[in-house]
Amino acid sequence: MTKWVYTFGDGTAEGSSQMHALLGGKGANLAEMANLGLPVPPGFTITTDVCAYFYANAKTYPAELKPQIDAALKQIETITGRTFGDAQRPLLVSVRSGSRASMPGMMDTVLNIGLNDATVEALVKDAGDARFAYDSYRRFIQMYSSVVLGVAHHHFEEAIEIFKEDNSLNLDTDLSAADWQKIISIFKTKIAEVHGSPFPQEPQAQLWGAIAAVFGSWHNPRAKIFRQLHNIPESWGTAVNVQAMVFGNMGDTSATGVAFTRNPSTGAKELYGEFLINAQGEDVVAGVRTPQNITEAARIAAGSVQPSMETALPDVFDQFVAVADQLERHYRDIQDVEFTVERGKLWMLQTRGAKRTAKAALRAAVEMAQEGLISQQEAVLRIEPGSLDQLLHPNVAPESERDVIATGLPASPGAASGEIVFNAEEAEQLRSAGRKAILVRVETSPEDIHGMHAAQGILTTRGGMTSHAAVVARGMGKPCVSGVGALRIDSERGILSAGPVTLKRGDIVTIDGTSGKVMRGAIEMRQPEVSGEFGTIMQWADKLRRLRVRANAETPADAEAARRFGAEGIGLCRTEHMFFGAARIAAVREMILAEDEKGRRAALAKLLPFQRSDFAQLFEIMSGFPVTIRLLDPPLHEFLPHTPEEIAEVAKAAGVTPEHIRHRAEELQEFNPMLGFRGCRLAIAFPEIAEMQARAIFEGAVDAKRKTGQAPAPEIMVPLVAIKPELDVVKAIIDKVAEAVAAETGEMIAYTVGTMIELPRAALKAGEIAETAEFFSFGTNDLTQTALGISRDDAGTFLGIYISKGLLARDPFATIDQQGVGELVEIAVERGRKARPDIKLGICGEHGGDPASIGFFERAGLDYVSCSPFRVPIARLAAAQAAVGGLAPGEDS
Ligand code: PEP
Ligand code: MG
Repeated sequence: MTKWVYTFGDGTAEGSSQMHALLGGKGANLAEMANLGLPVPPGFTITTDVCAYFYANAKTYPAELKPQIDAALKQIETITGRTFGDAQRPLLVSVRSGSRASMPGMMDTVLNIGLNDATVEALVKDAGDARFAYDSYRRFIQMYSSVVLGVAHHHFEEAIEIFKEDNSLNLDTDLSAADWQKIISIFKTKIAEVHGSPFPQEPQAQLWGAIAAVFGSWHNPRAKIFRQLHNIPESWGTAVNVQAMVFGNMGDTSATGVAFTRNPSTGAKELYGEFLINAQGEDVVAGVRTPQNITEAARIAAGSVQPSMETALPDVFDQFVAVADQLERHYRDIQDVEFTVERGKLWMLQTRGAKRTAKAALRAAVEMAQEGLISQQEAVLRIEPGSLDQLLHPNVAPESERDVIATGLPASPGAASGEIVFNAEEAEQLRSAGRKAILVRVETSPEDIHGMHAAQGILTTRGGMTSHAAVVARGMGKPCVSGVGALRIDSERGILSAGPVTLKRGDIVTIDGTSGKVMRGAIEMRQPEVSGEFGTIMQWADKLRRLRVRANAETPADAEAARRFGAEGIGLCRTEHMFFGAARIAAVREMILAEDEKGRRAALAKLLPFQRSDFAQLFEIMSGFPVTIRLLDPPLHEFLPHTPEEIAEVAKAAGVTPEHIRHRAEELQEFNPMLGFRGCRLAIAFPEIAEMQARAIFEGAVDAKRKTGQAPAPEIMVPLVAIKPELDVVKAIIDKVAEAVAAETGEMIAYTVGTMIELPRAALKAGEIAETAEFFSFGTNDLTQTALGISRDDAGTFLGIYISKGLLARDPFATIDQQGVGELVEIAVERGRKARPDIKLGICGEHGGDPASIGFFERAGLDYVSCSPFRVPIARLAAAQAAVGGLAPGEDS
């Protein structure tokens, strides 16, 4: 018989932390905590297999589920000495989602199941507080009705408002037990009217309704968006956890809170968290009340006058510290825990690996390795390569002028400037228009996720370090300042004010999520560096990796950044990017407009000195490392002017008529430029272009050698080769120029000639091509485009649909399609190596900086990856993880 339900509590459990695929993260860790003997309210987990069954069978359950749940519920009753639905000692339970990957706040939860007109009376006696009991009951009715019955929140909120008005009451806290009783009966009438049937009084019906709602919430829109953003497969499903309720709102010896075993922002080894006395868990994360600190040290640091848990509940605090410590040592990682204290008794409700900033992840990993808790290799494996992106973005320059208008909590590090927007839609609109937004909200909710993604940073006026905005922003690696109490938002009028300062929608602000400061205007930023723990992890990663990491760079600034980030050479210098400078573009256009070879040569002669000094600079910066320079690749019409004004200007400068330019542009116009007159086809039609570029490379190399004393190692790369003769023709041009320059300068520069492998035919015929090519660099952008027949420039219109319909798991231009494009790479590697065993193999498409793709390139046996300079540290780390066999997040197993 299939086991669909796993129990836990009272020092034992049927599950364990290993079973997170079946029990979800929450269920697996509750089981683990119970097994460790920690105080966990008893409960049971309904497996993710039930979720799969539920969706495969028209939202029904396997037949054995009911008896298994009945038995598990009995077990909770035995442990607690309470009975579900009993009027004297009723058992109340919570029903919560819990999938394999953490999806905070995305799915539904229902608390206090089992409350009804009879059991609420027992709660009155139990708590000795009628107001508390009726308040709980009406909250339960609200929550259950909205989550399970689909009766919208506003019906209840309006009913409370009308009641308060009619009875001249101001605050919820002014309402008595009798008032809540009256409101409960108003609620019931409303539910019967809107829902068409009465609020269910039968606890079993409540329980099954809640279970179905939680399974149903796996497919709610925000959960779907979250899964898309985090590459979580639809097929995983959620588990459902049913657990005895414990109350943090039973007076001043009760409390509820969340804590991290180390600081999730900085990684410092200090218990870090927030709690509220006499409150329920939701109150802490909802940002309604400002939470108190757990430790005295944190309270003093925050300058808070509210007592810490350490002083308010000293005995429970000591016990909690011991539990937190035990959990961190057991899991050997930072834990994020939720707890409740019910009348002085500590209960652990959740533990999970803490979401942390990249900075915190680095510090904690390095310190844990130094503490002997984990090995250096584990420390390297602990860091998600993509998360380093957070540290590779600018921060506010220390010396920059700033106009601070308010300060809040430093909720997620890094700084960002942008236009003020007040909702997610505005943030998205700005992004589509290529503008930058700072999303300003009182507090964010899961509905804001897409706007948070679109914005550069998030600013909230309420909420703590564990508020929704803070947690989600840290996960996204976006700067966030939360809880800026001094700010007032009037989103209707589009105004943000801080004391005397008033800013409007569209005004520029800068937020610094490292210091919590909010500043008017755009502030000068400081470029990031790889130092401290970041540097240490990079050193440890470098010891582990096999793949070399180069950068795609053509400007000196990029090449220097690449070196700072540890690039071991340039894997792709797109020479066309060097054609656009003001002084150069005129010569480029003159070459394109020339009537004959003589005219072209004259124009190219003007370009030569520019290219020569560009290359010399790159060689100097990359002294001692290889530099791959690619010959001109794009179609020539990309360099011609487009607007009438530009055309007129160029015509004047070139001494031709605007008509002549338009005519030439028309001649060069193509239906499919990406498959048109580009790549090596240019060098074959106009050998003088390749000659000039080869000359600039060799002369630049000689200059650099004379200056630095070190001979550069140019690798000259021919783009878009489909057939071997193309490469043969271009190589002959290059070799001839090399000889000429050597004869003229007396310096023979050692160089190699190779090709991009970016067309399927080239991949298939790699054996032949390798007879000429000394290296291959996979141009996976074009290879993806040509293998899938999906235009790089037009994919946006339909790729999203493919991904949302599950036809493609992810964007093949971002993460390599291992099965298809990957097979072409593997074929080319095998055939290329067979023909030329010492052939050098690299990749310089966008995938070179994508951790999931780097795992594939490691297994394919490439020698190096090349990516944009700011992704070099990410690639170094991903390469190390790939070398020791770790799968990158999002990579298929
Ligand atoms: C490629 O096609 O992968 C490549 C690196 O070249 P480009 O992006 O310049 O076409
Ligand atoms: Mg290409």
